[in-house]
Amino acid sequence: MRCPKCPGKLEEKTYGRRITVRRCTDCGGLFCKPQVLVEMKREWMADAVLDSGDPRLGQALNKLDNVDCPECGTRMNKSTDERQTHIWFEQCPNCEGLFFDAGEFTDLKYDTFMDRIRGLLRGRRPE
Ligand SMILES: [Zn+2]
Ligand SMILES: [Zn+2]
Repeated sequence: MRCPKCPGKLEEKTYGRRITVRRCTDCGGLFCKPQVLVEMKREWMADAVLDSGDPRLGQALNKLDNVDCPECGTRMNKSTDERQTHIWFEQCPNCEGLFFDAGEFTDLKYDTFMDRIRGLLRGRRPE
């Protein structure tokens, strides 16, 4: 599978038993399905392991428009996270595939991570 944003190749990467994504060998972009994204948000270390690309490169590639889905070739739409509107990623209207530039997934997950920390702190009594 070819990377939609650069000449690199998308390689299969797995984390745990339920998470399979495709990561670009060159730019570190990640391609996955929405259900995998839900699992990735649940796994504490998934971002550190899977989103290993250079965020500066990701930022540069984030400006690319007119990206075709690596799986089915359909033109992808730009989407934004409902809670973190500064994050833009590509979504395929046909197969629902999602493409995140390097660093974007970590950014997306960080919000969830902080919510968890706050939740933990709230639940703990002062000693
Ligand atoms: Zn790439
Ligand atoms: Zn597609």
